[in-house]
Amino acid sequence: MTRAVVATGNAHKLEELLVLLPDWTLEALGADDYPPEDGTTYRANALIKARFARGRAPADVWVLGEDSGIECAALDGAPGLHSARWAPGRDQADALLERMAPETDRRTRMVSELVAIAPDGRELHGRGTLEGELAPARRGSEGFGYDPILVPAGHDQTVAELGDDWKNAHSHRAQAVRELLAAIDRGE
Ligand code: IMP
Repeated sequence: MTRAVVATGNAHKLEELLVLLPDWTLEALGADDYPPEDGTTYRANALIKARFARGRAPADVWVLGEDSGIECAALDGAPGLHSARWAPGRDQADALLERMAPETDRRTRMVSELVAIAPDGRELHGRGTLEGELAPARRGSEGFGYDPILVPAGHDQTVAELGDDWKNAHSHRAQAVRELLAAIDRGE
């Protein structure tokens, strides 16, 4: 078993990572003083979180940092890096539906970047995307965040309707984990 501390306060992300990394023992970093995520890429922000956890976690465990976002083609990739807080005081998914209401180009993707830092300091990463279209309205009850409003390419249902098993097999985060594990296997 590989032991790792995950730099997240998001219980949903941790739950997904627990399923996606069955051979790892994961625990969340309990911290309320994360540094600002002021990187210019998802990977830079994932690295900021992972390095913060590296400074707090026991020296003999791995640490993981993840950053994700949703990108609408009609909005030139927004909300992107700002997906967590681009509409202050509102449900972010509802706000995005409203902002996208007049747009006919519905192409939308979710992106996940995952960074792992080994006990010896090696930094590895994986990236995943989930391509699709923005739904006209919320549908479905599984998942979290933007899952009720993203319809993956080739499907009629939202991620929240397709459900957790589908998501853990096909999501941006699942793909990022697969890439990360491949990098670790290659001994990078
Ligand atoms: P962050 O990576 O925690 O900064 O999350 C960015 C934003 O994307 C937040 O609003 C999350 O709720 C949302 N988000 C992150 N991962 C997912 C996902 O797998 N599905 C839907 N929304 C997500």
